[in-house]
Amino acid sequence: MMRTIFPGQTIGIIGGGQLGRMMALAAKEAGFKIAVLDPAMDSPCGQVADIQIVAPFNDETALEELAEVSNVITYEFENIDYQGLKRLAEIAYVPQGAELVRITQNRITEKAEIRLANVPVANYIVATSHTELRANIETIGFPCIVKTAYGGYDGKGQLKLNAIEDLELTKPLFEHGACIAEAFVPFVKEISVIVQRNGNGETYCLPVGENIHHHHILHETIVPARVSEHILTQATIAAEQIADHLQLVGTLAVEMFVLQDDTLVINELAPRPHNSGHYSLEACNISQFHQHIRAICGWPLRKPDLHQPCVMVNVLGEHVVPLTNVMSKYPEWSIHLYGKDEAKEKRKMGHVTILTADVNKTLNEIKHSGIWSE
Ligand code: AMP
Repeated sequence: MMRTIFPGQTIGIIGGGQLGRMMALAAKEAGFKIAVLDPAMDSPCGQVADIQIVAPFNDETALEELAEVSNVITYEFENIDYQGLKRLAEIAYVPQGAELVRITQNRITEKAEIRLANVPVANYIVATSHTELRANIETIGFPCIVKTAYGGYDGKGQLKLNAIEDLELTKPLFEHGACIAEAFVPFVKEISVIVQRNGNGETYCLPVGENIHHHHILHETIVPARVSEHILTQATIAAEQIADHLQLVGTLAVEMFVLQDDTLVINELAPRPHNSGHYSLEACNISQFHQHIRAICGWPLRKPDLHQPCVMVNVLGEHVVPLTNVMSKYPEWSIHLYGKDEAKEKRKMGHVTILTADVNKTLNEIKHSGIWSE
């Protein structure tokens, strides 16, 4: 049953990173209170929350405490303990449920569900050991990518194999459990769709974003994605089909590959707001964070609309000082920094969104700003 959560009531967030922070800021605009569970004191979300519970994510007492102070609970990352979340759902209102986390935590269940939703994924096999991988790899062929079923992100826990000789390299991956091997997809573009749904089945997608990665980490999102009308439509249909199949409540980010022949293959899912949807804060009439809060609070959703094309560019640890040195030159840039204490290299520290009438000009401006090197 969809419940309505009202301003003045408290939203509990598991995870204190930037996604939690931006959810919290959106919720606070409407007058909600925020409680956050994170192992660190004054995490990015903790800094803007009303209540901080500082404890590990699987700490039973801390989860009970969060349940006690919250009228509704959400999460900002998917690697929370599934059993813990399931138990939490018994003592607290967790409209998103635990099932979506179970499915998306594991590439094996995730791919199986995408296929059940009648949406294509790259051809793949499951291997529980290196021996099993060796025995079956020929059904996939080369090049291929071997990924750990659990725990990979930003290109971690995966290896590209060009030939059978590379197979030895994958042995350490099996220390983390089962793996999948999937065909290498010769994509021309990577895109993503953020789909959001409430308990009444109301569903909306944000405009499709085109993603450019550097060293496996998202660098830029360009919106609208520079793909055909056909792909824009198909991408949205695919995301909605998956959301319906999973009976989504909340937010699902769907990462996709676009092929030369104008077809799509789904890469992976994230059951939460996504880095590639940050642009919506300035570029849309509803951001992914505001819509997420509406969805979990049982409010009607708003149909997203793009005010203007835009580019979002990530600010990693090594970009913070160069950015602050030159930002006075760029009044059009919306600067977001997440309040993280240590600007470690490759750590996501913030992002910049630029609304633009000329995407190419803006991409050039970013390139020549001296902040981001290749
Ligand atoms: P993932 O962690 O699965 O999102 O993969 C990280 C990045 O690796 C993707 O954004 C792609 O650039 C690349 N990648 C992953 N899987 C494939 C694939 N099957 N074919 C080609 N590139 C891939």
